[in-house]
Amino acid sequence: MGRSSKDKRDIYYRLAKEEGWRARSAFKLLQLDHQFNLFSGVNRAVDLCAAPGSWSQALSRKLRGREEEVKIVAVDLQAMAPLPGVTQIQGDITKVSTAKEIIRHFEGQPANLVVCDGAPDVTGLHDVDEYIQAQLLLAALNITTHILTPGGTFVAKIFRGKDVTLLYSQLKIFFSSVTCAKPRSSRNSSIESFVVCQNYSPPEGYIPNMSNPLLDQSYDVDFNQLEGSNRVIVPFLACGDLSAFDSDRTYPLQLDASKEYEYIPPTQPPIRPPYEQACHFRKHNLLSREDAPPISPTHSQEEQEP
Ligand code: SAM
Repeated sequence: MGRSSKDKRDIYYRLAKEEGWRARSAFKLLQLDHQFNLFSGVNRAVDLCAAPGSWSQALSRKLRGREEEVKIVAVDLQAMAPLPGVTQIQGDITKVSTAKEIIRHFEGQPANLVVCDGAPDVTGLHDVDEYIQAQLLLAALNITTHILTPGGTFVAKIFRGKDVTLLYSQLKIFFSSVTCAKPRSSRNSSIESFVVCQNYSPPEGYIPNMSNPLLDQSYDVDFNQLEGSNRVIVPFLACGDLSAFDSDRTYPLQLDASKEYEYIPPTQPPIRPPYEQACHFRKHNLLSREDAPPISPTHSQEEQEP
């Protein structure tokens, strides 16, 4: 696929480059903020699963410059290029050491906003993808219970699969308000949505525990079958300005008749993306060879695909 045909395919991908965002997902957080006023009064924010960094960028652009001191921490397994006012932790969100490092950076203070756009590498097997995404969301919830202040907000990507009610039930244990939201920039064809969990209020006596009691629990109850007042109903909200671009539509390359289309390169390619090795093999025609040499760990950036 040529460069311009990729641009034609996705309007938010193009807008991201025009506005200098590292990824199109920035618009998802911005549209969620537009709907829920997420950034109001926030001075300590955590971006879980942050690379390549467009959500951290949005936090940095929106929160900094206020009178009070603002601290933003971004966590990812992968390294990402630096961003103004954002401290990076290259770590795993399932580890208690990561929670401790975040709190250390906040000098013992808890965060008032935790966001997580985490996603495992998609396998294409829907049940497996949904299961892994659910585990990652629960891991994010788990670390959030260590670092979020009572009354704080947690936002996370969720796949609305058949067992989503179980996740809602678990989130409702910790937050008085849970809403499922779909920003305009998230494709309708995608199972992805975002849970916006407000007013963190853990059960009395709850002690955060990284062994993940939520994940390890064996449930006798089928949460999807609960009925009446026992069933957790989470409101669903389509959000973002209705005049915003539709992520499922294809737009012409020349949006503005007065300006000629010009290709803009991506703002910041990922530093060491997981697909790096596959790109290297393809470039050197090694994909189909069983004896393909292992890629060296110092494999240079120039060898990456654009
Ligand atoms: N929100 C990001 C942005 O706007 O640029 C995009 C996030 S990307 C869709 C998902 C990220 O989740 C990947 O960078 C991946 O490394 C990270 N991730 C997955 N599992 C993780 C884990 N256990 N700990 C930390 N990061 C993780």
